[in-house]
Amino acid sequence: MEELEVIREDNVLLTRLDDVSKLIQTNSLWYLTFGLACCAVEMIQAAASRYDMERFGMIPRASPRQADLMIVAGTLTNKMAPALRRIYDQMAEPRYVISMGSCANGGGYYHYSYSVVRGCDRIVPVDVYIPGCPPTAEALIYGIIQLQRKIRSKTMIER
Ligand code: SF4
Repeated sequence: MEELEVIREDNVLLTRLDDVSKLIQTNSLWYLTFGLACCAVEMIQAAASRYDMERFGMIPRASPRQADLMIVAGTLTNKMAPALRRIYDQMAEPRYVISMGSCANGGGYYHYSYSVVRGCDRIVPVDVYIPGCPPTAEALIYGIIQLQRKIRSKTMIER
C-alpha cells in the first residue's frame, strides 16, 4: 500500500504512525446517517447490495459516539438544525461531514423558504459537498473517495 512504505528485513516492518493512522481511518469511516429528505433514499441505495459502501469499511451507526462521519442527506429545516448541531457535538474527533445534495448544500429547491436552512454548513463544518437533486449513489461514493483523499493529505496533528 502507498501509505505503508514498509522496509522488510528480518521480518521487521517499519512505517510511520501517521501513515498507519491514515490507512485505518480512511478504511473504517463509520457513518452516522442523517437522512432528512429525498436524498436519503440515494444514501440508502449506496449502502445496499448494488453499490455496497461496506466494501470501503463504511458501516452505518445509529449513535454519534460511534461515528466518524455524518452524511447530511436532505433538506435541513430551522427546527431540525439544533438537533443536527447537538448530534455533531456528540461525535468524537476527528469527525467529518459530507453535505449531500442541493438542499443540504444551500437550501436547494427550498432556498427561499422561511423554514429551511440555506446550507448545513451554517450549522456544522462541511468537508465535502456533493451536488445534485438528488445526487446519485455513485456521486455519494465519489464524494467519499474525495473525503478519503482529503484525510490522507493531512498529518495526524492537522487532522
Ligand atoms: Fe430532495 Fe433534491 Fe433536496 Fe435532495 S436536493 S432533499 S432530492 S429536493
